[in-house]
Amino acid sequence: MSKKLKQIAIYGKGGIGKSTTTSNISAALAEAGYKVMQFGADPKADSTNTLRGGEYIPSVLDLLAERRRVDAYEAIFQGFGGIYCVEAGGPQPGVGCAGRGIITAVELLKQQRVFEELDLDYVIYDVLGDVVCGGFAVPVREGIAEHVFTVSSSDFMAVYAANNLFKGIEKFSTAGGALLGGIIANSINTDFQREIIDDFAAHTKTPIVQYVPRSLTVTQAELSGRTTIEAAPKSEQAEVYRALARRIADHTESKVPTPLGPLELREWSAKWADRLVEQERAAA
Ligand code: SF4
Repeated sequence: MSKKLKQIAIYGKGGIGKSTTTSNISAALAEAGYKVMQFGADPKADSTNTLRGGEYIPSVLDLLAERRRVDAYEAIFQGFGGIYCVEAGGPQPGVGCAGRGIITAVELLKQQRVFEELDLDYVIYDVLGDVVCGGFAVPVREGIAEHVFTVSSSDFMAVYAANNLFKGIEKFSTAGGALLGGIIANSINTDFQREIIDDFAAHTKTPIVQYVPRSLTVTQAELSGRTTIEAAPKSEQAEVYRALARRIADHTESKVPTPLGPLELREWSAKWADRLVEQERAAA
């Protein structure tokens, strides 16, 4: 009997460390012996760069723009640890829908039975989560992924994007959409940052899967076109990513989150703004 493929979507606001986190999860899973595909669903098409020494690969939409018929394997490139790298790509600026690009790319792989042929354990979708519009909700809405995780720092815009994702998950939860595995709390270096993200998680009834500190090791690895797992395998940060990958591998039960309404979110952020001012006064 064939093994069960686990499909996971990782959402996050642009610039929050979503692709860095996703690539390190993929690298840690590959290192642990799993067969992994990382599927970039960000129109920038740079999700898999650090799995391939900083190199870009042609996206599915690039290939389809050149000709009508594309063999799925033309869009699959192997990277660190044998990870299969795919980029959905984006439309030409001003034309088309990035979400349609995600559907087109996933359909190409499914029609050609790539997941079965490669005998994958994990497909990890790296999805831009600034705007959870109909297009970027595709991995949640179309039942492509089973579990959704969000990368969020304690910054308001990251929390705002995560809350929007929760609204999307809640909306599609009754129609067979993917549910939420939890928050990957990124760039958490102080107690205050941790308190903020913990409080948001408590208010939205969402677990924190892992706290990931901001680290120079990650920046150095990225500048050399590699993941932390590859570039600094003995570092503390690599151990954090391995722990995160293990939690995701062991994760089975996802849930419907409880997003904050617009007024609740405003009150919640105002409360933390006041506490920040108090803390700065106390420190002065
Ligand atoms: S649905 Fe989203 S991705 Fe598609 S065109 Fe609209 S905003 Fe862009």
